[in-house]
Amino acid sequence: MGTLQLEVVTPDKIVVSAEAEMVVCPGVAGEFGVLPQHVSLLSALKIGGMRYRVNGKDATIFISGGFADVNNNVMTVLAESAEQASDIDAVRAQAARERAEKRLAARDEVVEAPRAEAALQRAIMRLNIAGLR
Ligand code: ATP
Repeated sequence: MGTLQLEVVTPDKIVVSAEAEMVVCPGVAGEFGVLPQHVSLLSALKIGGMRYRVNGKDATIFISGGFADVNNNVMTVLAESAEQASDIDAVRAQAARERAEKRLAARDEVVEAPRAEAALQRAIMRLNIAGLR
């Protein structure tokens, strides 16, 4: 079946660089899977978990949204932030969740609501993924 080269990068680090047997991504229009020898593809990603398999073992990482590019059996994921499940600080995510919930509850900050919603989604997703490890 073979593998595809998977590279997940953020502005400050390389989160994954591996030969993967399969990748499942949180696309803006829904999850999609990528197998070796996939056709070329460019997709926007939303906040979510990205699953990938290396040597028969599955791992899930957190992705803050970004872009996935597949070309010539190389998949490059560019994300604003991404972390391996084992690198997620659950206490920090819980604090971020509480801050976002407070901001959303303060109804006078209407302009800030989408930012608070996104921060809340990131925190909840990080807690979900940290819980899987
Ligand atoms: P916070 O309010 O806690 O900073 P955030 O969602 O605003 O959370 P991001 O802007 O997504 O944070 O990320 C900023 C940097 O901090 C990135 O490098 C990201 O990987 C890291 N980061 C954020 N939250 C966590 C966490 N809970 N555990 C580990 N790394 C985190």
